[in-house]
Amino acid sequence: MRVVADREKCMGNGLCEAVHPAVFEVADDGVVVVHHENVHAEDRKLLEQAVAACPAFALRLVDDD
Ligand code: SF4
Repeated sequence: MRVVADREKCMGNGLCEAVHPAVFEVADDGVVVVHHENVHAEDRKLLEQAVAACPAFALRLVDDD
C-alpha cells in the first residue's frame, strides 16, 4: 500500500497531518509531503481517514498487490 499525494491540488490546510502526523507534513512551502517510510499497513484506517479528510481530493491510497 502506498499513499500518493497530488502536490498540485494540495491547499496546505494540514487536515491530513492532523490525522496522521507521522506520515503527512505540510512543508515550509505550504504543500504536503508524504513520509513514505512511515506508511504501514496497520495504519490503513487512519490513512483512509486522512484521504477522506482532504477537501482538495489530493490524496489517495494505492494497493500495489
Ligand atoms: S488535507 Fe489535503 S489539502 Fe490539506 S494538507 Fe493534506 S493533502 Fe493538502
